[in-house]
Amino acid sequence: MALGLPSVMPDDRPSIGDLVRSSGPTFSFEFFPPKTADGERLLWQAIRELESLRPSFVSITYGAGGSTRDTTISVTERIATETTLLPMAHLTAVNHSVAELRRVIGNYAEVGIHNVLVLRGDPPGDPQAEWVAHPDGLHYASELVELVRRSGDFCVGVAAFPEKHPRSPDLDTDVDYFVRKCRAGADFAITQFFFRWEDWARLRDGVAARGCDVPIIAGVMPVTNVKQIEKMAQLSGAAFPADLAARLRAVADDPAAVREIGVEVATELSDRLLAEGAPGIHFITLNRSTATREVWQNLGVHTAAR
Ligand code: FAD
Repeated sequence: MALGLPSVMPDDRPSIGDLVRSSGPTFSFEFFPPKTADGERLLWQAIRELESLRPSFVSITYGAGGSTRDTTISVTERIATETTLLPMAHLTAVNHSVAELRRVIGNYAEVGIHNVLVLRGDPPGDPQAEWVAHPDGLHYASELVELVRRSGDFCVGVAAFPEKHPRSPDLDTDVDYFVRKCRAGADFAITQFFFRWEDWARLRDGVAARGCDVPIIAGVMPVTNVKQIEKMAQLSGAAFPADLAARLRAVADDPAAVREIGVEVATELSDRLLAEGAPGIHFITLNRSTATREVWQNLGVHTAAR
């Protein structure tokens, strides 16, 4: 890059890729588009409460089925225009022709969204069902990375799986395809949530051994609800450690105790990941702020001491 200055996006803000590489570790939050007026109120409450922490960026997921897809655009645009936060929109290839994907990418650019997390997505209804591409669509995230890249001045992130993608036959094959996806034009990656720091370190080492230096931000989810996390772990293929499950089940009827354990575990995991050189932590907030803020505060104490 000329003069070693970070590149800026069309709205004069540094891209997430540059933030991760130049001033990491980054700390960021993930939200999902709400379906109801109540959900929208909770989301904006969380956004406002977390805004004061001055995260590096925030991201909004893209609905699997379709009903909330316009909400992804409107919420991300509102974050860009009404808050001090740097937003990133997710985008999946599910049920979209290439022409439709081009339109969504164009909409993102129009409303000032220049950071995009590019994903293949899962079959709507049953995420574990066989993936079927739209007849005029794309088969893999790597093709969508190329499409977004060709469509304008975007900073592109991709998904990574410390325990391998559930459909990948083995870890090596998974890392091979991940590196191929990065080489299609990804600036950074964010992982699926996981609970063992060693899984992230193994992925990082496998990627580096293949000569790829894309920064891999760790996705961390503070557990606040035992049933919800068990279901999410099952759907995502993340291993839910038996000792953690036992600790949580023992206090399952006491939400405050569950949250306390969730915060403790997420703090320890994040702290270890940062010590291992993770370039960033992306907190999956589930549109709530309390647990994430507590982990953040705990980490602030630890990072200040380092
Ligand atoms: P890909 O990179 O395309 O990989 C999918 C599978 O295909 C993998 O097993 C891979 O190894 C394999 N593969 C890749 N290329 C090839 C090839 N050329 N030949 C053969 N096999 C290949 N889902 C949503 O619906 N909305 C979201 O907003 C969303 N956000 C997410 C955010 C993060 C951080 C993560 C980790 C996941 C997110 N997901 C989201 C879920 C994601 O869409 C699914 O996990 C999906 O199954 C995989 O997406 P991918 O982009 O990794 O796909």
